[in-house]
Amino acid sequence: MFYNSTRNTGLKVTSAEAITQGISAEGGLFVPESIPEITPEEIESLGGMSYPERAAYIFAKYLTDFTEAEIRYCTDNAYSTKNFESESIAEISHLFEGTYMLELWHGPTCAFKDMALQILPYFLTTSAKKINLDKKIVILVATSGDTGKAALEGFKDVEGTEILVFYPEQGVSPMQKRQMKTQEGENVGVCALKGNFDDCQNGVKAIFTNADVKEKLDSASMMFSSANSINWGRLVPQVVYYISSYAELVKDGEITNGEKINIVVPTGNFGNILAAYYAKHMGVPVNKLICASNINNVLTDFINTGVYDRNRKFYATCSPSMDILISSNLERLLYLMTGRNDELIKEWFGKLAAEGRYEVTDDIKAKLKDEFYAGFCDDEQTKAAIHAVYEKYSYTCDTHTAVAVKVYEDYRKETGDTTRTIIASTASPYKFSASVLEAVEGKTSELDEYDMVDRLAELSNIPVPSALADLKNKPERFSDSIESGDMQEYVLRCLGV
Ligand SMILES: *Cc1c(COP(=O)(O)O)cnc(C)c1O
Repeated sequence: MFYNSTRNTGLKVTSAEAITQGISAEGGLFVPESIPEITPEEIESLGGMSYPERAAYIFAKYLTDFTEAEIRYCTDNAYSTKNFESESIAEISHLFEGTYMLELWHGPTCAFKDMALQILPYFLTTSAKKINLDKKIVILVATSGDTGKAALEGFKDVEGTEILVFYPEQGVSPMQKRQMKTQEGENVGVCALKGNFDDCQNGVKAIFTNADVKEKLDSASMMFSSANSINWGRLVPQVVYYISSYAELVKDGEITNGEKINIVVPTGNFGNILAAYYAKHMGVPVNKLICASNINNVLTDFINTGVYDRNRKFYATCSPSMDILISSNLERLLYLMTGRNDELIKEWFGKLAAEGRYEVTDDIKAKLKDEFYAGFCDDEQTKAAIHAVYEKYSYTCDTHTAVAVKVYEDYRKETGDTTRTIIASTASPYKFSASVLEAVEGKTSELDEYDMVDRLAELSNIPVPSALADLKNKPERFSDSIESGDMQEYVLRCLGV
């Protein structure tokens, strides 16, 4: 299996090259040259395997330049009960008859990003070895909260890597800040920036593309790489849990093998739902992919009209990991839907960069409507959904998952479709305790972060994840705070070059 770029179909690289490079030189994203198949018989047999075995089985179809032993090294290290508080790794809970919550947050940072970021460091270091890249890999991350911590936990003490995370001093929740400041590991660094998330992001991009910096790293035998969801190595682990959960439901007799299901995904950068699209096109029987957005509803409009327009107000919501106006992974979807037409992709994404807007062809509009349903809700509706789910089903969900639940309800009302449905549950409710507690109790809480967690534990009967419970007693290791203009110097000093 080789990989092409969405902006250069003629380009052909191995998965090891795609993963180490992260993004293609001309700005496109790497995609496998074909979508491998999974048959009903294979799905049946996956039912009898553990999660790491299922993952290894599916990775073998995509990472054909990896040996079986290399893949097992990655999956066994990433998906063990050392890192996940659930033996099944991706746990399925029942919300109500025929509706399942796919809980992707039993990893070390309590958000679904762990599913990919626990394994990416192993993919990256294995890939680097395969292509004889004898350099230390330096991961630079700009984060608005979840990605930074998940990347830190993934890369901590992974040999041959070093990771530096920048976050906006005033832009993350108190719990997220504690999670990062107390990070353990010998190869990690965390620094606050006096600025907003865009300043972090722009600073990191400027360092990545600075020729001077690159030369300095080169001579010290180091190279930069990226841990965000444009990297194929972050996307392919997400395909696994959709196939795995389908196999699990078949095994449990909840569905018959071949029966179609719906998949609902609370969406931001379009990575998670794109993974579901891949699972569908590999052979998992899917009726509708339901794309749920918060009030930053650029994707809802796009799927419903075929016009992508980022020229709109940006809202900070109680589901912050979905506050995004440019969904990078949409480029991969459109590349596939246009029959791998790199010229059209260059045209549309050129327009997006220049004018913030593009419109797809009628043919693509029809395909979008056929495969997807899209909806959105605001913060008030999100909290109402948390409250209703808690009262009706004694289930406590986080703010992002609640957006998915609300949009799914709208879908059911509108269509009358009662196809069995998997809802991707993307974060532990404890990660957003203040909003969840407010929604459940119907009033703003006066408690501090830790007392809120305790209160939520009383109400929800969900054990507090040890990673969050332990935070209270962990020493803070990182207190640096710098001006955005000083980032480059800071990075070079940390790396000692
Ligand atoms: C990142 C994130 C999302 C959005 O996922 P995408 O792959 O970016 O669409 C949803 N929920 C939570 C909790 C997240 O951290």
